Amino acid sequence: MAPKNEPSFRESVDLMFNRAVALMDLSPGLEEKIRVCNATYTVRFGVRLRGKLETFVGYRSVHSEHMEPVKGGIRFATGVNQDEVEALAALMTYKCALVETPFGGSKGGLCIDPRKYDEQELELITRRFAYELIKRDLINPAQNVPAPDMGTGEREMAWIADQYARMNTTDINSRACVTGKPLNSGGIKGRVEATGRGVQFALREFFRHPEDVAKAGLSGDLDGKRVIVQGLGNVGYHAAKFLAEEDGAKIVGIIERDGGIYDPEGLHVERIHEWLQKHGGLKGYADTHFNKDGARLLEAECDILIPAAMEGVISLKNAKGIRAPLIIEAANGPITAGADEILRHKGTVIIPDMYANAGGVTVSYFEWVKNLSHIRFGRMQRRQEEARHRMLIDELERLDRYLGDAWSMRPDFKEKYLRGADELELVRSGLDDTMRIAYQNMREVWHGRDDVHDLRVAAYIVSIGRVASSYKAKGL
Ligand code: GLU
Repeated sequence: MAPKNEPSFRESVDLMFNRAVALMDLSPGLEEKIRVCNATYTVRFGVRLRGKLETFVGYRSVHSEHMEPVKGGIRFATGVNQDEVEALAALMTYKCALVETPFGGSKGGLCIDPRKYDEQELELITRRFAYELIKRDLINPAQNVPAPDMGTGEREMAWIADQYARMNTTDINSRACVTGKPLNSGGIKGRVEATGRGVQFALREFFRHPEDVAKAGLSGDLDGKRVIVQGLGNVGYHAAKFLAEEDGAKIVGIIERDGGIYDPEGLHVERIHEWLQKHGGLKGYADTHFNKDGARLLEAECDILIPAAMEGVISLKNAKGIRAPLIIEAANGPITAGADEILRHKGTVIIPDMYANAGGVTVSYFEWVKNLSHIRFGRMQRRQEEARHRMLIDELERLDRYLGDAWSMRPDFKEKYLRGADELELVRSGLDDTMRIAYQNMREVWHGRDDVHDLRVAAYIVSIGRVASSYKAKGL
């Protein structure tokens, strides 16, 4: 239970928004226009399952249409409610503005425990939910483009895309009605791991700025940093895996639904992930390090804490006990407004959700563009690029022969340089660039203004400023 003075998720987002607009020079009317959620649709529909009619409740909330289509995932979870989808839709508006994806913000959810149904039943339910949204233009390539979120993935997105295509047989852009699809249904390489990859790129960029690293009382780079990850779902798993395998970070703690494991020597992410897939929980993996009370592990000793599961896990209840000097919000809204205040006063550096987990929507944007252009990235230029590189290699080989022993090409250079970029490389490069630039935009405000003391307010100021100018351009 949340303490009485703990605001709801939606209120938390508004409080954070208010803290930022207080430092901006917007008219009260425009401020209010940006803050409010434009519309939230509730759909109730019945599906006949196991001989009985079951009624489901779903939502699609549209926060801001300053740009269209609006964008944001669809979540399948029992806790889904109007307050939650509205908070998440608002965060999508700010997130898209911050990373310059040309979308407004939206979010959807279905109140369901997906683990209670088999695949066929889930398909029926998903298609029916999609039908309800499609016929109201709440799924549409030009107006509202969902994506995966908690409890949904490629499979559900493929069903939604197919449902849209069946209902819009002449829409040549039908595949762009949803992102996060499997590759064979119009998806893009690198989308599955995009949010986790974005968390990695965000941390890499943070550690490129020693001044920022020092604010968290840390130094050096990611190598050897002790990390605790809460939630080893799609986002947490990929972030932990990449940080451990590619940056030398040490994953010392993993928290899941049924408890947590902590080992100062470091944990094997891949093995734990496999265990989780098989057994559904951490129990039994490494009994010596297992603690049933996973939440306690949020307060354990580490350098970087990555809440990657759901909102409100760091609240008034436990904020005081958090020892991590750096928190990166891989989930949406994991820190409540009250906890945020406590942590700020303690000097904890928080890399905020709207930036930290924007990798997903960034690659969704690339997928949407791919679908609209009807061609895979790199298809036209790859071989041409290789041919030009070949010219340079030929020249270098001539030089190599001429210089004899004095100089020679590094053995792997030729192979690496010759190869033109494929779709995955282009997606990664676009994501890396996006994460670097958005961080730099935030830090300019963080360091450039005396009245801004944290990255969250800086992020809100950047994104609200962009949304405001887009409304102003429309004459509002
Ligand atoms: N559900 C993800 C998020 O919260 C992805 C949204 C998208 O790709 O549209 O950002």
